[in-house]
Amino acid sequence: MKDIKSMTLAELEQEMAQLGEPKFRAKQIYTWVHRGARSFDEMSNLSKNLRERLAENYELYCPTAVRKLESQRDGTIKYLWRLKDGNCVESVLMRYHHGNTVCISSEVGCPMGCAFCASTLGGLVRRLTPSEMLDQVLFTQLDSGLQISNIVLMGIGEPLDNFDTVCRFLELVNSPEGMNIGMRHISLSTCGIVDKIDLLAQKNLQLTLSVSLHAPIDEVRSRIMPINKKYPVDVLLASCKRYFEATGRRISFEYAMIRDVNDTQEIAQLLVKKLRGIAAHVNLIPLNDVEESPLKPSRPDTVRAFQQTLEKNGIPATVRRTLGGDINASCGQLRRKYEQSARKE
Ligand code: SAH
Repeated sequence: MKDIKSMTLAELEQEMAQLGEPKFRAKQIYTWVHRGARSFDEMSNLSKNLRERLAENYELYCPTAVRKLESQRDGTIKYLWRLKDGNCVESVLMRYHHGNTVCISSEVGCPMGCAFCASTLGGLVRRLTPSEMLDQVLFTQLDSGLQISNIVLMGIGEPLDNFDTVCRFLELVNSPEGMNIGMRHISLSTCGIVDKIDLLAQKNLQLTLSVSLHAPIDEVRSRIMPINKKYPVDVLLASCKRYFEATGRRISFEYAMIRDVNDTQEIAQLLVKKLRGIAAHVNLIPLNDVEESPLKPSRPDTVRAFQQTLEKNGIPATVRRTLGGDINASCGQLRRKYEQSARKE
């Protein structure tokens, strides 16, 4: 059966033509689907006959929340969603002054193998479908009762490893007849798959590209991020420049501060050198402790000193406030714990 929630409005119009239905039906159905309808039976402005034919021909799946954790400190809510095939992915709702932001996953697991990341420990299980990405935004909004205004693709998985699906998801979530979330309210984070960054640049979307840099030199970066062996730092930064030239959008660089690995003053100076001439903003994130990893977060003084060196040299840098520390809110940790406990049961 065809997955109706992964279809664009134009595709749904074609489907309706094939079923011998007028064009406006497509918009009615699309609106229901994007409001989170759980079955065709809910679509009360369609005839019973049409609802039955839709149910025979199309799949309309909605995920269930198997875990929901709410931070007592800052109201962050973490969801673990069960997908149609029993796999689970996480989304996190963060409440910022500038609006409610949902961080969503793009894959079940991740193939990229970064040394500090919990999402990649079991490798890639499978890529998500467009509807499975959309559902995370839709049902986080419906379940929490909070209007979502921003999306970050920074959950489990590598969005650019699931390129076509991510592009379709962006089209769906951005559509005026759907959730209508503006591209400028969406950030996409990548470990640095350069050929896909170039493809994305061609699309000239107004979203924010976040690049997980984490080190300015190959010697260090290759040690913690295997992708660096394929696309070394200079190659990656050149693609960031091209991205800016094509879209006019400043690049946001993610930099997880790892004690004695990438946090020295010498490395801060090297980072300054590498980022000179790139319209950049650096987000410093104290490393989140992952049980399975020997890597530790930098000390607060070291983080501050690193930030000051960047700022003094004209590179805007902020230290990211960590939210949801009491609910294991970072990347892949909840899914991992859940799968481990499910295996024991
Ligand atoms: N695959 C994409 C997006 C998912 S990860 C990417 O690599 O960008 C979102 C961000 O969290 C990335 O910057 C990633 O490097 C970072 N991250 C992963 N594990 C982390 C940890 N233990 N502590 C801090 N940041 C982490």
